[in-house]
Order: sequence, then structure tokens, then C-alpha cells
Amino acid sequence: MCECCQNARIGPAYATHDPACLHCGARLIWRIQRFQIPRQDKIERCRRAMKVWTDYGHSEAELRKLAKLEALPLEPEQPSPSHGRRKT
Ligand SMILES: [Zn+2]
Repeated sequence: MCECCQNARIGPAYATHDPACLHCGARLIWRIQRFQIPRQDKIERCRRAMKVWTDYGHSEAELRKLAKLEALPLEPEQPSPSHGRRKT
């Protein structure tokens, strides 16, 4: 589980985003889209964030998809063994 996502789950104001994690990138872009800044700045910041994450090998389409969601993007929690859904 990504530590940044975990911290953001506990406190959504947590402002660190791990470029190795797709959900962190989506979360950063999600936040930028909600900043009260001029539209041009938003586009520029989103583009820069997008480049960092796509340079890490993440899919731009996936990042955009997650950033469009209503909810704050977070890495899904690992299903606990007690749920019994996971076969190892
Ligand atoms: Zn993460």
C-alpha cells in the first residue's frame, strides 16, 4: 500500500504525492483542478504534474480518468484476508 495514499486517506490534506504511485498523481491533478487559481495556471500545473507521472510510466488516460472522479483518488485498500475474496 502506498504510504502517501494511506496518509491522505487518514488526513485528506496530506500534500505529498509519490510519483511511483498512479493514485498519487491522480490525486495531485485532482487537487490542482480544484485550486482557486487562473485557468491558465491550472492547465500549466496539470501539464507539469502529468509529465512527472507519465515519465514514471503511468498512463495519461488512467490519470485523467481518476482525476475526473468526484472522490479524492486514493490507492484502493488491500482486501483483508478476513474478507475471504482473495485466493493466494
Ligand atoms: Zn499513492
